Amino acid sequence: MSEKTVPVVGRFAPTPSARLHLGNLMCALVAWLSVRARGGKILLRIEDLDAARCPFMGENTRYLLDDLAWLGLDFDGEVLYQSTRSEIYETYFNRLNEAGLIYPCYCSRAELHATTAPHLSDNTPLYDRRCLARAARGEAPPVGRKPAFRVMVPDRELGFTDRLAGEYRENLLTDCSDFVVRRADGVFAYQLAVVVDDALSGVSEVVRGNDLLGSTPRQIYLQQMLGFDTPAYCHIPLLVDAAGRRLSKRDGDGCMESVRAKYRDAAPVVGALAAALGLIARPESLSPSDLLPFFDLAKLPRGVVKLPDGF
Ligand code: GLU
Repeated sequence: MSEKTVPVVGRFAPTPSARLHLGNLMCALVAWLSVRARGGKILLRIEDLDAARCPFMGENTRYLLDDLAWLGLDFDGEVLYQSTRSEIYETYFNRLNEAGLIYPCYCSRAELHATTAPHLSDNTPLYDRRCLARAARGEAPPVGRKPAFRVMVPDRELGFTDRLAGEYRENLLTDCSDFVVRRADGVFAYQLAVVVDDALSGVSEVVRGNDLLGSTPRQIYLQQMLGFDTPAYCHIPLLVDAAGRRLSKRDGDGCMESVRAKYRDAAPVVGALAAALGLIARPESLSPSDLLPFFDLAKLPRGVVKLPDGF
């Protein structure tokens, strides 16, 4: 079937560990516009895997739903909560295990961080396969310690073409190494959950922040191992203030709490984001639907997304 007959399915997948930030809203807006401009579907998934940081339907989740509605973004189907889907993740974890790709890792966080190995973009050190070597030597695992589980990666390059960031490639072994798919406390890792959920929801386009560009080869590798299709990827550059500075979380810059305290109405906020994204020439008050005729991914900046002066 051609792309014309299969409607595009996008998604927004926030982690409710804090109140949403203008940068998250910008990603939600682009994901929504990209899909709606082509008559597709957009899903909302709450990534509340870690119950300690993100209690089910907690305050941040309630604010998040309200902030999205305030901005004028609507979603198709039911909201998916990752916290309710452990059994599903377990099925796919077992498939990887049956394929001989999973091994237990008993290394503590302190042991892992004591290495001089280079760190990945998510700040985890490149794993040196210490636990594989220990098992090969026949050493017994440390008593009383529960293992995390890692997926084994091959020594090969994996690349993809991002619709915004262009060509991106990594050697799975030397640039990322075996990564955790289930934590020692039993919680499934983001990398596995995101791949399973995107595939089972039929997601064909992933629009998200540039901070996740470096996670994408790991996700594509899991898709390949589980027999899933790879969606199109579009990683959006960082949102900065008019002077080019990162919005400071400490000062509450860009936090939806301050944005909503300053702007009662969402229209100027949508307009400022649209101008920052290059969709319109000057900030004006608009709704997301007003922006549909102006949406073109090719207009988006490649470096950083700069908010207009005075916003
Ligand atoms: N939950 C992730 C976050 O809020 C995003 C996941 C994704 O879009 O793949 O950073």
